[in-house]
Amino acid sequence: MSEEKQQPQVGISPDQLASILDAINNRSDERMIKFAQELRKPTPEEQAKLDRDLAKTKERALAAARVAMADEEGKKNAAKMCPHGTTHEGTGVFKHQWRAQVHTPAGERAYYIPRCTQCGSTWDTVYGLPSPKVVATQDQMKEGVNLDKWSVNDIHRVVEWLKLNPVAEEVTA
Ligand SMILES: [Zn+2]
Repeated sequence: MSEEKQQPQVGISPDQLASILDAINNRSDERMIKFAQELRKPTPEEQAKLDRDLAKTKERALAAARVAMADEEGKKNAAKMCPHGTTHEGTGVFKHQWRAQVHTPAGERAYYIPRCTQCGSTWDTVYGLPSPKVVATQDQMKEGVNLDKWSVNDIHRVVEWLKLNPVAEEVTA
């Protein structure tokens, strides 16, 4: 009948629609690629800044590595020098520097790791024990270890006991 009724029938064929969609997609793909290329290619100023940043990052990493090495050296020296306590110059009284806090991991026996506050040594390295850990008693779980109040003899007694009763593997983590 009228053209108005025919037009919708003529319309756009599926093939035409597909090619138009392709063209739109291709155009946007091209634009995206250009965009990406622009983003990837910094201006000379940007490149200079990137180079400076990279140099700074390298410098910082080197400095951190140097500090870490110095720390390790310092720790080694401290360990060599440290007799695990200090002797009062006036009184000549020796005070050990072993300290520890009780850890109560879920499903494991409570334990503590005596550590020298001067050099960071633990009993396994100092006394040749298989583990740095000591199983905590019920009292210690409640009251803390209070290693600062132990005498040197107390420590030697516990160390001797640990040599005969090494901490079981399941406690070591
Ligand atoms: Zn020490």
